[in-house]
Amino acid sequence: MAGNDVLGRLRSELGRRVLAPGDEGFDRTASMVFAGDDRRPIAVARPRDEREVAAVVTVAAETSTPLGVRGGGHGYARHALVDGGIVLDTRALAGVHIDAAHRVGVAGGGTTAGAYTTAAAEHGLATGFGDTAGVGIAGLALGGGIGYLSRRDGLTVDNVLGATVVLADGRVVEASDDEEPELFWALRGGGGNFGVVTSLRLRLHETPVVTGGMLAFEARGATVAALVRAARDADDALSLMVNVMKAPPAPFLPAEHQGRPIVVALVCHSGRPEQAERALAPFRASGPVLADLIRVQPYPAMFQAGPELSGNRAAVRTGFADGFDATRAELAVALVGEAPTPLAVVNLRPMGGAIARVAEDATAFAHRSRAIMTAVSALHPDPAMAASGAEWTARASAALDIGGPGYVNFVTASGDAAARAAYPEATLRRLAEVKRRYDPANVFSSNVNVEPAEVAVGR
Ligand SMILES: Cc1cc2nc3c(=O)[nH]c(=O)nc-3n(C[C@H](O)[C@H](O)[C@H](O)COP(=O)(O)OP(=O)(O)OC[C@H]3O[C@@H](n4cnc5c(N)ncnc54)[C@H](O)[C@@H]3O)c2cc1C
Repeated sequence: MAGNDVLGRLRSELGRRVLAPGDEGFDRTASMVFAGDDRRPIAVARPRDEREVAAVVTVAAETSTPLGVRGGGHGYARHALVDGGIVLDTRALAGVHIDAAHRVGVAGGGTTAGAYTTAAAEHGLATGFGDTAGVGIAGLALGGGIGYLSRRDGLTVDNVLGATVVLADGRVVEASDDEEPELFWALRGGGGNFGVVTSLRLRLHETPVVTGGMLAFEARGATVAALVRAARDADDALSLMVNVMKAPPAPFLPAEHQGRPIVVALVCHSGRPEQAERALAPFRASGPVLADLIRVQPYPAMFQAGPELSGNRAAVRTGFADGFDATRAELAVALVGEAPTPLAVVNLRPMGGAIARVAEDATAFAHRSRAIMTAVSALHPDPAMAASGAEWTARASAALDIGGPGYVNFVTASGDAAARAAYPEATLRRLAEVKRRYDPANVFSSNVNVEPAEVAVGR
């Protein structure tokens, strides 16, 4: 069907909440956090409720028009921005309701981690997401959700109680342990493959304050190895990530380190402050400290603005590791030093704790027994650096032996390779079965795509 007819159908359902190229606000609405190749959607649709979401999905399905689903716009692969297709922008579905008495938070599709976290903190409560306020809760939770409360409370998916989902055929279903349980399993790690999530119900945990912030160290492999060891031995209230990265031009870092490799630990202890001080001692002793910005603070303060990423291009590789010794870490320091891009990071996220206490097949996030999630990334604002940034991430991840399958939310491969870069074989097979049942025509294909399992002949 011609683009104009698709637009006409969308407009007859959603009126002015459909923007086309040339309309005021189209370019802004169709933009993502990361820049990249030139993709030009034919329309951005901004539904306000399930009925309107279903209408958009139905138009896409019936006209075979590619469909992307946008939440917080932080997807590295920019899957929400579909060339020649429809962007279903969930931001008009955003909204937060905190039921403090029952420790349940409800987030409308399109709600950001920051908006929910601020609302929950007014009650001294929190649900763990990642490290960045602007990331969409649905986009993050559908992949897993590794963040500052994960070793205490589990991944974000471990705190999802239920979801409202608009399916490929326009039906609206509830998914939970009791309703559509196989869909519920797949939603918790299987990404945007199964429908549009219009609302998530999430478990809240008491989090009156945290002791957290940044510890920056001189770039030494032994420091990274000591941080990783300390994380393995730490109590579950401690979650952290370790970055080997080029030092940003921050006023709290000595000028001579800026632009050169440093080691940064972003730590968050969500227990009592006295307990936190004891738990943090081995981290502080991991090497020569350049800056110690750890303090007792409300949990939302952990989401302080990082470097401005908007407009950058990103090359990312992801995997999991079972350890990270000083030799490997020394290599990470050397590789970051050679990186051609202004932002270059080897990111390590120690797991364990509550993450590892959930059975491997309980959700579609199947990397529970691994010690560390890893990502190597190169970010830059200059299109001319795209090739060298991608070459560096490929070379660095190979040298560091950071191979897939990795964490789906950091996978940027496309086509067939993408799902294999994210899921172990058994998980992928089960996801493909769920896909066949809920989206046999692969309407939701602009993501780390799981193709529907083929129906076995003769069975
Ligand atoms: C700066 C930065 C920091 C990050 N930090 C962390 C972190 O600490 N921990 C972590 O686990 N991850 C982290 N991530 C990865 C992040 O979780 C993923 O990029 C996530 O997919 C972003 O979701 P989004 O809604 O913001 O992005 P979008 O680009 O809007 O969406 C990404 C994809 O999610 C799907 N999707 C989004 N909303 C819906 C919906 N309502 N229904 C169905 N499908 C939907 C779609 O397939 C879409 O293509 C980070 C990413 C960035 C850029």
